[in-house]
Amino acid sequence: MSQKVSRIGVLTSGGDSPGMNAAIRAVVRTGIYHKLEVCGIMRGYNGMVEDEIIEMNSRSVANIIQRGGTILKTARSKDFFEQPGRFKAYENLKKRGINGLVIIGGDGSFRGAQQFSNEFDIPCIGLPGTIDKDIAGTDFTIGFDTAVNTAVEAIDKIRDTADAHDRLFIVEVMGRDAGYIALHSGIACGAENILIPETKTNINELIRTLTEKEKRKKLVNLIVVAEGDEFGGATEVSKVIKERLPNADIRVCILGHIQRGGSPTCLDRLIASRMGYHAVESLISGRYNVMVGIVNNKMNYIPLDDAVKQKQKINNEWLRIVKILAS
Ligand code: ADP
Repeated sequence: MSQKVSRIGVLTSGGDSPGMNAAIRAVVRTGIYHKLEVCGIMRGYNGMVEDEIIEMNSRSVANIIQRGGTILKTARSKDFFEQPGRFKAYENLKKRGINGLVIIGGDGSFRGAQQFSNEFDIPCIGLPGTIDKDIAGTDFTIGFDTAVNTAVEAIDKIRDTADAHDRLFIVEVMGRDAGYIALHSGIACGAENILIPETKTNINELIRTLTEKEKRKKLVNLIVVAEGDEFGGATEVSKVIKERLPNADIRVCILGHIQRGGSPTCLDRLIASRMGYHAVESLISGRYNVMVGIVNNKMNYIPLDDAVKQKQKINNEWLRIVKILAS
């Protein structure tokens, strides 16, 4: 892979997350600053397979840093899972002279990038864009801070009404495989219990703490559940509690897709800008096929091969803090 990068493509892939636009803007403007040509690839890998690719300039990314979603759209691409689909994508890039890619997405998108860069001579850089924060090799992922702040704002409101009625609220937040949104929003909102996929949910223990709190006349209870908790989501948890505590006044609230949208927070805009800038710098300096992350406020580069193998683990200290502060 000796050819110098001169014309790059940027795409957003998989689940969307707030801050992706800020990352696109940074890639486009840093590229142009370094006299590279920059193309936008529409709808994730679909745009590569179907040759839906647009020329970008500084003005194409004006007035987007504050907007949620992604101007390039995002999608899941069935064709890209298969070699013929990836070959078609490669031919389209070759035809257009694109010789470097920046992929903003989650671990699935990185798996696609890893596969593609192993098969073809086009270097790929991954930027972690996911609200789930489940990617190893970075302290931040683009979109997590916004999503968790949206959840906190909503849960605070729910707590007000729970308090007015002495109710038990079970709030479901996003996270099919990852509990970070539940853990961070739960701690920040003072939830009594937080149920996440990474730890085994002990329903007997949950019932015991609820009963014990009822005895102490602590009537307001907030349980935050990640949608992918191995026991089930908020609806399943409420059914079991209702069976065991028939007198409890329980309400379920599923926050859903509001967590993906909205204007990105300052933190998400900053990390997206920083990562986007370093993605282009990496391509120029020949640091290929890595994910750009931030660890201890320094840039961190891990090979895409490693980025797809590891997951960010839940720090046990957080679990201990939840237990102690909720008593
Ligand atoms: P996310 O990036 O949010 O985790 P997905 O898991 O849906 O999202 O992955 C996004 C896209 O990446 C998929 O639709 C597919 O096109 C591509 N992809 C994922 N895994 C692979 C793979 N093993 N090989 C090729 N492409 C893949």
